[in-house]
Amino acid sequence: MNPGQNSRSGYSGLTDYHSHTPLCRHAEGTPEAYVDAALRQGLAEYGVSDHGPSPNLDDDWRMAVEELPEYLQWVEEARRHAGPDLPVRLGLECDFLPGEESWLDTLRGRADWDYWIGSVHYIADDWAVDDPRIAFRIGETGVEETWGLYWKCYLAAVRSGRFEIMGHPDLVKKFGQRPAGDLRRYYEPVVEAMADVGCACELNTAGWHKECGEAYPAAEFLALCAEAEIPLVLSSDAHAPEEVARDFSQARNMALDAGYTHLARFAGGQRSMHPLQ
Ligand SMILES: [Zn+2]
Ligand SMILES: [Zn+2]
Repeated sequence: MNPGQNSRSGYSGLTDYHSHTPLCRHAEGTPEAYVDAALRQGLAEYGVSDHGPSPNLDDDWRMAVEELPEYLQWVEEARRHAGPDLPVRLGLECDFLPGEESWLDTLRGRADWDYWIGSVHYIADDWAVDDPRIAFRIGETGVEETWGLYWKCYLAAVRSGRFEIMGHPDLVKKFGQRPAGDLRRYYEPVVEAMADVGCACELNTAGWHKECGEAYPAAEFLALCAEAEIPLVLSSDAHAPEEVARDFSQARNMALDAGYTHLARFAGGQRSMHPLQ
């Protein structure tokens, strides 16, 4: 084996496109620390995708609209520190709220984005499904109904056609509540929409560390994606430098088991496909 390859970790063909910055108020670490972590893991590319600003969301876990320039500077700093060996991509994790399309279009024009991740956290104005402070609402509303609401929102996010990558598809399972029976009844319409729209999906390893104990999405969802030839990216959803590329060996195996042979990369909104080794 060539010694150059040997000196890098096993993640040299992989990218991690979902990571955060302290601007979202619940992540920590400097641009340098995240980049050093990505270099240590031997990633081929690293992408920053903090929670995007919204004039319509009054929560405490995203950058403010006026902080966008600071975010762009943060990514610039990461790029400077990374140098030519590690491309650092500029992304954003955007909540999709029906009626907010024109804001998203404005935001899209404010920077040279490499990709956007579309996510659904809110299934009602005051209900973020991943917020432990209001997790009890799933119990009150009922799991079936909550899942129905969530996937309806997710489908609308996909169909908006504004995202290169769809984020943590089954986040609604975070606290471990799932309806009975074959869950593909929720997954199939979404996978079909992703195929129609032509976006990619992420395999997000953060779920392995939550009550659900599963990656987002579940293996059954991922198998449907592979069958429909939906492009895939691996992501850690890192909120701290030590979480960059976390569990990527497991994620790679899960992608291979689902039938994936390639992973997607993005630059300037353009997708390219690379062998999954
Ligand atoms: Zn977050
Ligand atoms: Zn998210």
